[in-house]
Amino acid sequence: MAKDKQEFVTHITPRSEDFSQWYTDVIKQTELCDYAPVRGCMIIRPYGYAIWERIQAEMDVRFKETGAQNVYFPMLIPESLLMKEAEHVEGFAPEVAWVTQGGTEKLQERLAVRPTSETIFCTMYSKWVQTWRDLPMMYNQWCSVMRWEKATRPFLRTSEFLWQEGHTIHATAEEAEEETLRIREVAENVLALPVYVGQKSDKEKFAGARATYSMEAMMQDGKALQAGTSHNFGTNFAEAYNIQYQNKEGKLAYVHETSWGVSTRLIGAIIMTHGDERGLRLPPKVAPIQTVILPIAAHKGGVMEACEKLYGELKQAGFRVKLDDRDTVSPGFKFNDWELKGVPVRLEVGPRDLENGVVTVFRRDTLEKFTLPLEGLQEKLADLMEDIQKTLFEQAKAFRDERTVTVHNMEELEAAVQNGFAKAMWCGEQACEDEIKEKFNASSRNMPFDQEGNTFGETCVCCGKKAKKVMYFAKAY
Ligand SMILES: [Zn+2]
Repeated sequence: MAKDKQEFVTHITPRSEDFSQWYTDVIKQTELCDYAPVRGCMIIRPYGYAIWERIQAEMDVRFKETGAQNVYFPMLIPESLLMKEAEHVEGFAPEVAWVTQGGTEKLQERLAVRPTSETIFCTMYSKWVQTWRDLPMMYNQWCSVMRWEKATRPFLRTSEFLWQEGHTIHATAEEAEEETLRIREVAENVLALPVYVGQKSDKEKFAGARATYSMEAMMQDGKALQAGTSHNFGTNFAEAYNIQYQNKEGKLAYVHETSWGVSTRLIGAIIMTHGDERGLRLPPKVAPIQTVILPIAAHKGGVMEACEKLYGELKQAGFRVKLDDRDTVSPGFKFNDWELKGVPVRLEVGPRDLENGVVTVFRRDTLEKFTLPLEGLQEKLADLMEDIQKTLFEQAKAFRDERTVTVHNMEELEAAVQNGFAKAMWCGEQACEDEIKEKFNASSRNMPFDQEGNTFGETCVCCGKKAKKVMYFAKAY
């Protein structure tokens, strides 16, 4: 297998030179999205939206397996509803966009464009739940939310973004952790994103939650990206919104509530975890196009026919396949184009390949080029997809593990967060989080669920007092 070393792409800034510019170049060149006329908003273009649809499909089926059902709630929330849970209001107030006028009339009550929908779900749950037999209620909605952000980056932080928000009510607590683990399964197995799962500190948790759990992925510049969250509200919202039910003993009790979500941010995570100097590298499970067929010397007898036959067979077999029969551009341009777009496998079919009964295969993850017999190609291609999926995950995991450093003092922490994550013992006090933020611009990410075997120090990395938890610290998006 010969490595294809030729550099086709010259219009992408190298990652090592300017990672941020590399990201901007990649999303622009691949036409994933564009800037909207409203500042801070983005337009997701077909290729970007197709990735989102893949994420949705994989997530949605899993949510439904656990008993969640999809619903749709309005995007406008009356101010009075939003004000009922004090901590929640305080957390979101600076980011809420308001509707104050309808047509020519000024509204009696302002309406919030939903920043998230706990308040309106709670309002309805309080009407719908009567007895323990109604529980659990597990609803999810795919929608957009709006948060008036000051600094924005496409996919990573935009004022309006797409997400799903699951809202569930239960007779008992403890289910929020499980949701995080479910989301993790998709992140790792579908998006090939290795993530650390754990609990957020009180400082970093969701406004109004008793506990927030997150999954944290490491981008190629060493920064953390929070790639999904779930929240355990206990009975906080149930008390504020009066969501009571009659329990088995015939007494009134408050429900326990959770919420969980992932957003189009995951697309940013895929780009920044897997991308390289040639552009995107998409894991096969999330790639809108898994394999592209390129005719070589298409005018020669039999080439187009063979390509069309192969296209039909692979499509029939369930691959997301595209036949690039453009005759307006050169094969070199097409190589460049599909590599840029991160298509996992390219199949080249030319007269010589056909003579030998093979196709020439190029895999985007390792840049290897080799031939495979046309006979039995489907099975080989399926194996190849599995292997690419696994390779991308393992590459990302090796990168992350190498840059996750166990630290024992502030000097080591400072060095670690220049390149990646610092794993430190922490006393649990916000003062230490604040100091680390102030000094190194690194924030606490999460406390891993599995704290056992992590007792590498007795004292807090910052203040030297008795440590309570292992905490990851990193610079973050
Ligand atoms: Zn401390």
